[in-house]
Amino acid sequence: MPDFAPDAGPAALRPAPQGPVFQRLALIGAGLIGSSVARIAHERGRPGGDLAAEVVVTDSSPAVLARAAALGFADRIEPDPARAVQGADCVMLCAPVGAYAAIGAAIAPHLRVGAILTDVGSTKVSVIRDLAPLLPPGVRFVPAHPLAGTEYSGPDAGFSSLFTGRWCLISPPAGAPPDAVEQVAELWRRMGSMVEVMDPEHHDRVLAIVSHLPHLIAFTICGTADDLAREGEASGADASRAEVLKFAASGFRDFTRIAASDPVMWRDIFLNNRDALLEMLARFTEDAQAMARAVRWGDAAYIEDRIGRGRTIRQGLIDLKQA
Ligand code: NAP
Repeated sequence: MPDFAPDAGPAALRPAPQGPVFQRLALIGAGLIGSSVARIAHERGRPGGDLAAEVVVTDSSPAVLARAAALGFADRIEPDPARAVQGADCVMLCAPVGAYAAIGAAIAPHLRVGAILTDVGSTKVSVIRDLAPLLPPGVRFVPAHPLAGTEYSGPDAGFSSLFTGRWCLISPPAGAPPDAVEQVAELWRRMGSMVEVMDPEHHDRVLAIVSHLPHLIAFTICGTADDLAREGEASGADASRAEVLKFAASGFRDFTRIAASDPVMWRDIFLNNRDALLEMLARFTEDAQAMARAVRWGDAAYIEDRIGRGRTIRQGLIDLKQA
């Protein structure tokens, strides 16, 4: 499979646009991503909509289930994951990736023959490692990852335009049935996403640089600033916490938005994309050292060149409408 297969599934494989892609979609995890999928399915015409005729939602948290019921984005709320997946032709895991092995063990015996198991997790090699060995024959496994999100979590955080104009990467394991891949692709297209098929290892390396490393840096810089502020408060020599907050607009603020993300979700991403993340961090550290050396020795040309590259990347994002 090429790393960057174009989004050009054979039209003959695509379900008729007017019918739902799935009859019963079971969502495991009703936070930001799961509740956004449920909201879209709900808004796209009930009963029967064009995503799924029925949406069943489960979550390990009774409080989340109570909130999901109050918000009304599910056709059925089911606290027991085994019962939630029964009869579903598509099951989508929308929980932190560290919970996948336990979820897989709980649901695998109850998956219908022919069902598609998919997910939205931010790592793909670990998801295949944790789930593929558990699946009974006849279950079709098509992992996916929408590149869309916010720093907020929980069922109240979801919204139906979350995936509009954003990429969704599909990373099927070797031998995944093409018709199942196409059904998952069609689901995401109908949710407004652009779809690309990407080899799981390649996915994890790309995401390590575009998402996981930036989050690691944001968490770290907030920790460094906080340590400095504590020291400053104690000694009076450095910035106080009040000053960090007051003058945050000078660049720090953008890091704090990313650093506000869910700790459990990001802990799981770091631990489940360890090799790629550590490799990108090592490269980044080398480059940061090179920048430090340029600053120390007054290498203005080097500094200017690096800043210029940043501007070019930003402009590229704006041009692609991904900014
Ligand atoms: P979220 O808002 O925290 O929602 C996750 C939900 O899963 C929570 O309600 C959580 O309940 C529940 N959960 C945890 N363990 C579970 C289990 N064993 N069984 C059933 N439910 C369980 O997180 P999210 O942002 O929607 O992220 C969900 C997935 O999407 C993650 O794998 C993440 O990597 C991926 N993703 C996130 C983003 C993003 O920007 N947020 C973007 C793309 C992909 P509790 O809160 O009670 O634990």
